Amino acid sequence: MSAIRSKDTTPEIVVRRIVHSMGFRFRLHVRALIGTPDIVLPRHRKIINVHGCFWHQHSCRRGRSAPKTNAEFWKTKRQRNSLRDREVRCKLRQEGWKLIDIWECQTHNRTELARRLRRFLVG
Ligand SMILES: [Zn+2]
Repeated sequence: MSAIRSKDTTPEIVVRRIVHSMGFRFRLHVRALIGTPDIVLPRHRKIINVHGCFWHQHSCRRGRSAPKTNAEFWKTKRQRNSLRDREVRCKLRQEGWKLIDIWECQTHNRTELARRLRRFLVG
């Protein structure tokens, strides 16, 4: 398991494809913004972040699972991740961005995912 956040994880590609198929233009991993958001729609001032359930401590089963080895290390690391996520979200909102978080486990049902993304982007 790598601790480095991979840029082209499958869940993210799933999300990108859907957004693209809806005709939206976006930029990826924008370093000029705090937290380097995954998918940025500058014209709409909207941001989509795709999170791995384990790394970012989602409330789902995978997000709550705790490794037995190096338990303390993983715990600290994942807590730091979700704390940073929260700070980043807060700052981006203050700058007027609208945000949506898509969790890895939410990318399995593509129909539902597309519906959510449409609501966020069009609504
Ligand atoms: Zn999850």
